[in-house]
Amino acid sequence: MNARITADWLRAPALQAVFDALETDGDTARVVGGAVRNTLLGLPATDIDISTTAEPALVMEKAAAKGLKAVPTGFDHGTVTLVSAGTPYEVTTLREDVETHGRSATVRFGRNWQHDAERRDFTMNALYADRSGQVFDPVGGLPDLEARHVRFIGDPRLRIAEDYLRILRFFRFHAQYGAGDLDAAGFAAVIDLRDGLAGLSAERIGMEMRKLVAAPRAAETVLAMREAGIVSRVLATHGGLKPFQNLRALDALAPETRAPALALAVLSDGGEDDLDDMADHLRLSNAERKRMKAARAASDIPCGWGAARPAPVPDTEIRRLLFLAGREAAIDGMLHAWANAGTGPQDDLFADALTRLRDAEIPVFPLTGKDLVSAGVPAGPKVGEGLQKAQAAWIDSGFALDREALLAAAKAD
Ligand code: ATP
Ligand code: MG
Repeated sequence: MNARITADWLRAPALQAVFDALETDGDTARVVGGAVRNTLLGLPATDIDISTTAEPALVMEKAAAKGLKAVPTGFDHGTVTLVSAGTPYEVTTLREDVETHGRSATVRFGRNWQHDAERRDFTMNALYADRSGQVFDPVGGLPDLEARHVRFIGDPRLRIAEDYLRILRFFRFHAQYGAGDLDAAGFAAVIDLRDGLAGLSAERIGMEMRKLVAAPRAAETVLAMREAGIVSRVLATHGGLKPFQNLRALDALAPETRAPALALAVLSDGGEDDLDDMADHLRLSNAERKRMKAARAASDIPCGWGAARPAPVPDTEIRRLLFLAGREAAIDGMLHAWANAGTGPQDDLFADALTRLRDAEIPVFPLTGKDLVSAGVPAGPKVGEGLQKAQAAWIDSGFALDREALLAAAKAD
């Protein structure tokens, strides 16, 4: 099968300068992996990885000769990051397995594209493109890509035993790019070898799971993972599977559902402590942890989507939620509530609330502590108490009370 790609990122002078630097004295370089795969699928390329016949020290020399910045980001594994016109490109020397002793392989640098391809995980991830866009396919990735079939290169059991993270990558790439059922041989192998997940670092699991839960086919994929007995091993929860599926069913309406923190909050079926456990378990960032908890807390703020379901949700309720939670958490919280209600994308009450949560102005509380002091409230704890009272009255009034009335509320006993 023959294929050629064209893309702005490939024509970019910054990348062509990297090729100019590397392809001297008989060395060759090709873009590999995600960038080639995604471009063939018509999707944006995220990061651009390059493979080359040149060894790392030589890559650094070649870069220096052309005035490109070179950072030895993973020198021993063969990776040097070249920065060209401000864009980083990871350049990795071709590798091959010399011997495989049970689970650990001795790796050396090589000059053989076939061997380099065979060390990769899935056929669709082992596609290469030269600087002109000509695609090279050493392990039959093109037909699999066309069928959107995520297939291990070689014997799935052997490949998983080399690196158990490939269990999660199998599901993750299926969720992102797959169609139809999971590859049967791969699925049987991940079930047999799932105990190996216990030896993986939390960081590596977290990186894969974040991407997985945000992927287009996450709902079916997480279900398959549960059938395989894998969800509870990697998420520290048995999973709110149904709400998670409901959330992903809202994708087309609400791209906000793609945020990993929201997806994980919905997947966790427990309370605040469970969210913390999950965040610890996946080594989520503080911002992600905060977003999970904020989504959860905002979903508990009583709004019109409770049992009574008046339609539409009153404007003051929308503004109240925005004021209390902020826009991001308000929308997350509403989507969380929608996912748990399970009423689906046809539910106009939620759909209408979503539009208004996106567009409504967030009320700004018009009083400050200074205002209270100027109005005669003694500096100290009384100021905070007064502000709180005024704010509660303001919210209760549907944000209608003016400054006069708010000052009076602040000073009232
Ligand atoms: P993404 O768009 O998510 O970055 P990607 O294909 O670039 O997708 P990476 O995790 O960045 O995925 O890895 C880059 C390439 O390196 C993969 O396409 C694959 O060829 C190879 N690779 C990465 N991790 C592994 C692994 N654990 N085992 C085998 N090959 C791997
Ligand atoms: Mg990548």
